[in-house]
Amino acid sequence: MSFFDNLRRAAEKSLAYSNCSFCGLEQTEIGICTPCLSAVEPMGRSCRTCASPIEASQTAQSEPDAGSSCGQCLQKPPAFQKVIAATRYKFPVDKALSELKFNKQLHFARSLSHVLERRVRLSYQDTSYPEALVAIPLHPKRLSERGFNQSEIITKHLANTLSIPHNNALTRIKDTPHQIGLSEKQRRKNLNNAFYLQKPLPSHIALIDDVVTTGSTVSEAAKLCLQNGVKQVDVWCLAKT
Ligand SMILES: [Zn+2]
Ligand SMILES: [Zn+2]
Repeated sequence: MSFFDNLRRAAEKSLAYSNCSFCGLEQTEIGICTPCLSAVEPMGRSCRTCASPIEASQTAQSEPDAGSSCGQCLQKPPAFQKVIAATRYKFPVDKALSELKFNKQLHFARSLSHVLERRVRLSYQDTSYPEALVAIPLHPKRLSERGFNQSEIITKHLANTLSIPHNNALTRIKDTPHQIGLSEKQRRKNLNNAFYLQKPLPSHIALIDDVVTTGSTVSEAAKLCLQNGVKQVDVWCLAKT
């Protein structure tokens, strides 16, 4: 039996018994057991702005610095302030997130939201939380196909556990084709005017998505918010590539 089958069986079991989402063995309150959490949680050295991995060779010249940004962010700072990711988008989290999205394995949203919540609490120790949590919306067509928006589920979970209002002002008015395999320029073009803001937002918000890859989606949404009175946009996601 493949790991994938094990993962799915574990997933099905965990729905009923509240076992760990990933191994299916340990009983746990947050949906992920301590060993799986320790396996999934490490991010490695990351850019303090976009949360992309920073290779050791990139900084070999300079002193190791936990708080440095990657070359790309230094050259062209993104619209958002920072990305906070629960974990890296790699095995087994990549599988878990596709199970969540395409096989309605919603328990992964719960367990990984707990991992994100831990990261968020650490990141905001010295600063105040955003005033509102805003999910990256799906186009209504996609929403009716899938039946749920995984980012919305994550947002509701975090709004609840962190006591931050959940705001649904942001909507998607353009059905963007799959972004996989497209150049950064093509991604931006596809996303142009993809979002619409239905009502004003507070000055500090967090945009929430399941996976952030190049950051073009969250950048486009962040720009719209910043053009409409928002002063700071943070990005929270379950996984960053
Ligand atoms: Zn486990
Ligand atoms: Zn960066």
